[in-house]
Amino acid sequence: MQNSILDLDQVSVSFDGFYALTDLDFKLYPGELRSIIGPNGAGKTTFLDVITGKVKPTKGNVKLRGKNIIGLSEQKISRMGVGRKFQTPRVFENLTVQRNLELTASPTKTPWALLTKSLSAVARDEVFKIMEYVGLAPYAKLQAGSLSHGQKQWLAISMLVAQSPDIILLDEPVAGLTDDETSKTADLIKSLAGEHTVVVIEHDMEFIRDLGAPVTVLHQGQKLTEGSLEEVKRDPRVIEVYLGQTDEN
Ligand code: ADP
Ligand code: MG
Repeated sequence: MQNSILDLDQVSVSFDGFYALTDLDFKLYPGELRSIIGPNGAGKTTFLDVITGKVKPTKGNVKLRGKNIIGLSEQKISRMGVGRKFQTPRVFENLTVQRNLELTASPTKTPWALLTKSLSAVARDEVFKIMEYVGLAPYAKLQAGSLSHGQKQWLAISMLVAQSPDIILLDEPVAGLTDDETSKTADLIKSLAGEHTVVVIEHDMEFIRDLGAPVTVLHQGQKLTEGSLEEVKRDPRVIEVYLGQTDEN
């Protein structure tokens, strides 16, 4: 049997006694695409925080390629090939779209190297390819701060793709995107899976359907169920959780 790339074993996270995650087991295999759904406050973002080292679990183990990563810094875990897009897209507002991408695509990331070295031809080609693909090429020379919310989402996703991490974690990648942009994002994500291992957190069920990936449902910090979207939608516990929801989900 193939070795897992990511392994969470009985992970709990307590914030001053409030459990955002409780005894969570989760396993991913290389190249897998997985969707995570669950109502607001289910613990989805905390789950990513634990994987990326932003939050240290109160209990349990997190292994990356079989190696325990608990206690390692976010920078170290990122260098080990884990990349993340935050729920609110983080871009350098004052830099151009192209520069944002060049900075993340750069193989040498020390400030001095960035000032003195130009990007390799390969990396520059890659930046242009990505901008073309996501339709940001016409905006290459514009400040990222002037982009629409949807374009910033795509820029943030593109910056992640440019780093080419082994594991790509996307927290609500289509929030604020048009239907057209959403379906294109699904295509992009599907094309990343296989070569990369991808985890997508989303509320948008059309989008989750488009991805066609196995779904893990989180609720109150625990795994409610796992399966295809059709399977989990039939689960009475999932129906109950979602019926109790407001429109924002
Ligand atoms: P989701 O992303 O599924 O909406 P989160 O992981 O953001 O859920 O949050 C899960 C729960 O943990 C929520 O009740 C939230 O208020 C709480 N929480 C998250 N981060 C913190 C924190 N740093 N301190 C205290 N409570 C937190
Ligand atoms: Mg969240």
